[in-house]
Amino acid sequence: SLAGKAAVVTGSTSGIGLAYARALARAGANIVLNGMGEPADIEKERSGIEREFGVKAVHSPADMTRPDEIEQMVRLGEKTLGSVDILINNAGIQFVSPVEEFPLDKWDAIIAINLSSAFHAIRAAVPGMKARGWGRIINTASAHSLVASPFKSAYVAAKHGIAGLTKTVALELATHKITCNAISPGYVWTPLVERQVPDTMKARNMTKEEVIKDVMLLAQPTKEFVTVEQVAALAVYLCGDEASQITGANLSIDGGWTAA
Ligand code: NAD
Repeated sequence: SLAGKAAVVTGSTSGIGLAYARALARAGANIVLNGMGEPADIEKERSGIEREFGVKAVHSPADMTRPDEIEQMVRLGEKTLGSVDILINNAGIQFVSPVEEFPLDKWDAIIAINLSSAFHAIRAAVPGMKARGWGRIINTASAHSLVASPFKSAYVAAKHGIAGLTKTVALELATHKITCNAISPGYVWTPLVERQVPDTMKARNMTKEEVIKDVMLLAQPTKEFVTVEQVAALAVYLCGDEASQITGANLSIDGGWTAA
């Protein structure tokens, strides 16, 4: 049980992050939600987590492109929940374009949100974890932390960066009872993936069904999407004492994608 522990989950107003937050709360952890969205929707998720799981949940509006706001998010957890024992760096965006046309602002935003935000959050949270002698850091990487796809230069660069950051932080904290691991999903059906469908339909002149089967699940040998609940269950496992010797790992949950 994670009762009495507090978790910060970045990008947890949607998709995989929301599933992490709900699964950690179900296991008893208090939660700092983070991410964008309609205030009423966010409040519904926040209060729903408190009601359903009997834990405390707060929302930090920190923008993951802003180092000062990322630090404030960690301090909010320490102040309102007493500590930050679990940090899940999960916020991420995608943009698809040939490298020579890749918009500069999109490159900068993807590196900031998908890579640098994890550094800033880890930097802010580690002193408290060291002081308490326990911690779990989980970074949502991707199959794209291990292999590439065309037209995703910024995303693939950021995710390979996350894989390296994960290993480095794991080594630095190895004797402090703090583990740091990456989870690398293949295609998970979330709003992030759903939003790629119309552009891909246009770019490849395909129907929605063709995009799903012949583009997205082409690389995924099981021909099925990973579910957000499956990814969240792996994170809960990594937070337990059974996983205390798993550190510096990059765990694939990708229907066999990176085995091919
Ligand atoms: P999603 O779009 O459903 O959720 C992304 C979350 O990040 C949202 O809560 C959003 O508000 C938040 N976010 C975006 N920009 C932010 C910013 N500047 N500051 C704070 N929060 C911000 O996406 P998802 O599919 O759940 O993706 C979550 C993570 O999983 C990402 O890191 C993504 O790269 C990774 N991932 C997803 C898949 C997949 O197939 N869906 C596969 C592998 C890895």
